[in-house]
Amino acid sequence: MTSKPVPFVDLTRQFRDLEDDFVDIFKSVGRSGQYILGDALNLFEEEIADYCGVKYALGVANGTDALVLGMKALGIGPGDEVITVPNSFISSVGAIMTVGATPRFVDVKNDLNMDPSHLEQVINTSTKAIVPVHLTGRPAEMDAICAIAEKAGIVVLEDAAQAIGAMYKGKKVGGLGKVGGFSLHPLKNLHVYGDGGILTTNSEDVYEEVLILRNHGLKDRSTCMKWGMNSRLDNLQAAIGSRKLKLLDTLNDRFREIARIYSEELDDVVEVPKDQIHEHSVYHNFVIQTDGRDDLMDYLEREHDIHTAIHYPKLIHTQPAAKSLGYSEGDFPNAERIVKRMVSLPIFPELSKEEIFSVIEAIRQFY
Ligand SMILES: *Cc1c(COP(=O)(O)O)cnc(C)c1O
Repeated sequence: MTSKPVPFVDLTRQFRDLEDDFVDIFKSVGRSGQYILGDALNLFEEEIADYCGVKYALGVANGTDALVLGMKALGIGPGDEVITVPNSFISSVGAIMTVGATPRFVDVKNDLNMDPSHLEQVINTSTKAIVPVHLTGRPAEMDAICAIAEKAGIVVLEDAAQAIGAMYKGKKVGGLGKVGGFSLHPLKNLHVYGDGGILTTNSEDVYEEVLILRNHGLKDRSTCMKWGMNSRLDNLQAAIGSRKLKLLDTLNDRFREIARIYSEELDDVVEVPKDQIHEHSVYHNFVIQTDGRDDLMDYLEREHDIHTAIHYPKLIHTQPAAKSLGYSEGDFPNAERIVKRMVSLPIFPELSKEEIFSVIEAIRQFY
């Protein structure tokens, strides 16, 4: 071992920085007696709507449910097709399956995001929606995607789970399509201490619908309008979310700064992500591409105790659960090429300069 171990992520550092505030929050929510659907949630929803530049935000149980509820509110279900990408976290597709619709995939570009040039050939009369994923916190090509959707008369739901604060042409993600879905899972840039999610929309109809659907379909205590779900964000998590939201831009700046250093120092040995001028990425992950990926990961772990990961190692169309969808290996050549070459380096706001440079030194040594 030539350097100190570097974890892929260490969530305890941020928790410790804010621990005293969390104790106060626990007391304040605890003493309020309101734990579900209360003031803390309403406040957080207003703050998020304001932050994302949308009319409405609703706290839900997790990021997957934000997509599920969004699709349900838009009437998407059995017999409908929804287009997304094969290289995402499994739940982008799980959400589509949950509402009973059929997922259809299109290939991605070298930046890991949806390639809009493949969309039109997949759209047919059953297509109801496109779900672009802002993977790694980098905005998908929304102008082209939204233009194609509009022309086809279908809607766009953004899977923005990894991308809160990211911007496309100066506008925050989550407000670019009909519905945005965010996750507050502990691994996301804005996270709480458990599961949580947010749905964003500018549509009053979607808002009214999800408001009821997330709470058992109840309009009031005794009137059930339709069959819904139990998918709410707890007040305790919402209050924590409010506290964290104050820090989000600072945290995201730190993700971006670490990404800038990695990019500068590694550009000549591996492929690093290169934002286009109109993209403001929040680098939820920092993904490099290289031919010797497996050897590099082994070397970093074995020789330097530096931990890396692959997001995501198995493309969704090749998952056992996706068998019935009828896809096979070779269908998405770009995603399939990238998945063998990609590796995510440690990136989180509390990563020290020393740690960043030991990752850089070790990678340079390998090459
Ligand atoms: C995390 C994530 C989700 C799901 O969020 P949960 O809160 O875990 O349900 C969906 N899509 C993407 C791309 C994600 O990274």
